[in-house]
Amino acid sequence: MNDFQSRGAAEARAMHLLSEAAGMSVHEIESAGFSTPTARRMCKLSTIYFGPTRFRKQQRQAREEAIRAGHTLDTLQLIESNVAKLADEAYAWKLRRDLCRLAANYRKLRTAARERVEHYNGPREEQPARPRASMSNPPGSLERTIHWTGAESKIAAVWDQVRDHATKNNINESDALFELFSNRGISQAEYTPAVIVSIGDLEAIYGGAGDDVILSATNGARMTGAEFLQQKLTDHGLAMLVSRVHGAVDLYTTQRLASSKQRKMCSLESPTCGVPDCGQGADRCQVNHNVAWSHGGPTNLSNLSMSCPFHNGRLDDDRRQPRNGHLVKHGGLTYHVGPFNGGYTLNDHPTARGGAMRVT
Ligand SMILES: [Zn+2]
Repeated sequence: MNDFQSRGAAEARAMHLLSEAAGMSVHEIESAGFSTPTARRMCKLSTIYFGPTRFRKQQRQAREEAIRAGHTLDTLQLIESNVAKLADEAYAWKLRRDLCRLAANYRKLRTAARERVEHYNGPREEQPARPRASMSNPPGSLERTIHWTGAESKIAAVWDQVRDHATKNNINESDALFELFSNRGISQAEYTPAVIVSIGDLEAIYGGAGDDVILSATNGARMTGAEFLQQKLTDHGLAMLVSRVHGAVDLYTTQRLASSKQRKMCSLESPTCGVPDCGQGADRCQVNHNVAWSHGGPTNLSNLSMSCPFHNGRLDDDRRQPRNGHLVKHGGLTYHVGPFNGGYTLNDHPTARGGAMRVT
């Protein structure tokens, strides 16, 4: 017998090895030439199969089965990792004997072990669904991903429809979802994001350079000019900037609430919250009075910026007691002013960079 064959034969005689190791410490097993992880394993397994137990008869039977089936240290270890999963320890020796009786084939043994553990543990209590959905918003990408969790039956039913639609129309599941949603008119009717396009960009887009132009929309998303063209123009309140408009909007100084027109213009100036690194789309923002209404700030476009509900609640109303800073506007650009250093910072979020005053 060569080294290769004798090594293989020794593997299958693990139970004999364990009987010789019985009673030895890890250190003693190591001294015989075994590696530390192997010595630890042998020490543990020999205690189980040769150490003291109340179930001596079952222990002996398991040893005999293991010798007959030619179990290795690996398969015996696999059996122990499954014994550890039992909810009721009383089944431990029964499971060991069941598995020791089976052939020492690692893959088949793993499957059999899983089935038996499930059998002994009984049906698991099902957790009720926790419905939720969220959208990832990575700054360096034009992709967004929706994570949608709900009751198994509901999600499966939806996914079946998506698959059917995709197969029938020979499109992928993502496109199928868009078609199914838009057929039901969810996006257009209630929610119309405006897209900011400068005259120069518009010329480039219609001139065929759409892929080079990135546009920002007031729902906080970005798209390429080519994607913009593919969508129906009616989906967007197309905004072209010729020059800055004041006039009409400045008439509303006696009202605390910004008019919808002011809100729209403010959104086009800044398609996201004005606080640095915040990517919340203007459509979900509140209108911030840079100088608070309660401190005499007018409802003029030059005093208004978009700010998400979270940041709007934190920005300082009273600038004499600075805590989180405030927003100011110069030339249509919103800056965050730090509470202590007074430094001006533009929101550099990629969507914010597509604001009206920053693309012209
Ligand atoms: Zn914000």
